[in-house]
Amino acid sequence: MKLEAEKKDLVQMDKEHLWHAMHRHKDSDTPMMATEGTGSWFTDTKGNKYLDGVSGLWCLNLGHGRKEIAQAAYEQMLQLSYFPLTLSHKPAIELSSKISEHLKGSYTTFFSNSGSEANEAAFKIARQYHNQNGNPGKYKFISRYRAYHGNTFGALSATAQANRRVKYDPAVPGFLHVPPPYSYRSPFGEQVENTDLLAAEYIDQVINFEGAETVAGVILEPFISGGGVLIPSKAYLTKVSEICKKHDVLLIVDEVVSGFGRTGKMFGFMHSDGVQPDIVTMAKGLTSGYLPLGATAVNSRIYEKFKEDGDLNHFRHVSTYGGHPASCAVALKNIEIIEKEQIVQRVAELSESTLSELFELTALDKVGEVRGVGFLFGIELVEDKKTKTPVSDVFMGKVIGVCKEKGLIIGRNGDTVPGYGNVLIIAPPLSSTVEDLQFVIETVKSVLYELC
Ligand code: PMP
Repeated sequence: MKLEAEKKDLVQMDKEHLWHAMHRHKDSDTPMMATEGTGSWFTDTKGNKYLDGVSGLWCLNLGHGRKEIAQAAYEQMLQLSYFPLTLSHKPAIELSSKISEHLKGSYTTFFSNSGSEANEAAFKIARQYHNQNGNPGKYKFISRYRAYHGNTFGALSATAQANRRVKYDPAVPGFLHVPPPYSYRSPFGEQVENTDLLAAEYIDQVINFEGAETVAGVILEPFISGGGVLIPSKAYLTKVSEICKKHDVLLIVDEVVSGFGRTGKMFGFMHSDGVQPDIVTMAKGLTSGYLPLGATAVNSRIYEKFKEDGDLNHFRHVSTYGGHPASCAVALKNIEIIEKEQIVQRVAELSESTLSELFELTALDKVGEVRGVGFLFGIELVEDKKTKTPVSDVFMGKVIGVCKEKGLIIGRNGDTVPGYGNVLIIAPPLSSTVEDLQFVIETVKSVLYELC
C-alpha cells in the first residue's frame, strides 16, 4: 500500500518538476521509470522486465550491476573525493596512459564530462593548434549531414540534423556540412555505385573551394550511428584521412559511440587501414555509463605545439569536474574488464551471426536494408523497396511499441532529415549473453514478420 502511494507521488512529482530529454510533455504521458537493473535487463515500477537493446543511450556497454565498477568509484571517493586537473591525480594519469596504449600511438588526453564537451575541446584544440602553427586563418570545420556530435553550441553546429537545430539556429559560424557515405540513398544519385568514394572526394572539393588555408578540421564518426547506422566501406575513412593530410586539416574522429568495442574493434577507426587520427573524442563506453566522463586525445604532433614557449600557448580551457577522480577510476576498471573478458573480440565474433540472422529480414517488403557493425545494427524500413519511401512515424512507433510490449527496448534515428526517421536502431550492451542476443533477434524478427 505504501509503495503504491509512493509511486503515485513520484509520478505526480515527475509530471510537475522533471523535464525529460527529447520528450513531448503531455499530461496523459507517464514515462517509463526504471527501478533496478542486472546485466542487459532492467525492471520498471510495474515489475516488468525489459532487455535494453539500446544500452541506455548507447553507453551501458558492460550492462548493469558490475560490483567491481561500483567498488572502484566507492574506494576512490573515500581516498580522494575531488581534485582538479589544473593539477594532477593518479587515476587520471593512469587513464590517459591507458587510452594512449589502446589508441596505438602517442596520445595526450584532456578530460571533460561528456561527448559534447569532448568535441568542444577538440574544436578549440584544433583552432589553437593551427594558430600556434602559423596558420591562424584555419578555423572551419567540416562534418557530414546526418551526423550528431552533441548538444552544446559548437557540437550542435557540427551536428547536421535539421530538426535538432531548427529552433536554436543560427549556429556557430565556420561549420560546413558534406554528404554522408550513404549508398542506400546515395546523395550522388540512385544509379551511382561508388558513393563512399565520391563522398570522400566531396570533402576534398569542399576544402579546395573554401581554401585549405581556412579549414581547421574534419570531424566524423567512423560509422554514423544516431544518424541511421551508416556503414561505409573501409576505404572511405582511409581516403578521408589522406585528404586531411594533404591539406593539413586535422582529422577528428568522434568515438563517443564507437569507442571501446561497440564496433568489434577497440575504436571504430581501426577498421580502416592507415588511419591514425589527430584527435579522438570519447565518452559513453569509456565508463560504460557508470559515471560521466569525456575525453579528447590528441597525438604528439598536435600536443607539442602546446608545450612551446609563449604566454598564451597553453590550452586555456578548464572543466571543474572533467577527469573527476571517481570517473577516471571507473573508466580504468571498465577498460580492465573489457580487456579481461575480451569484450571486443566477443563483439566481433557474435556480430556476424547476429547480422546474418537480421539480414533474413530483407525478404520482407518493408525492410529496405539491414546494416551493422559490431553491436550496432540498423534496419531501414520503407513503404516499398522500389520507391524507398520511408515508413511513417506512426508505423515506426508501432514497431518500437510492440517490441516494448514483448520486453525489448529498441530505438530509431529520430531527427536526421524530416520524414526520414525510418531506421530502427539496435545496440545492446556488449556484455549481452548469447541468450540475450537471441532474444533480441527473435523479438525483432517476430515483430517485423507480424507488421511488415
Ligand atoms: N557524439 C556522438 C556520436 C554521440 O552519439 C553523442 C551522444 N549521443 C555525442 C557526441 C554527445 O555526447 P553527450 O550526450 O555525452 O554529450
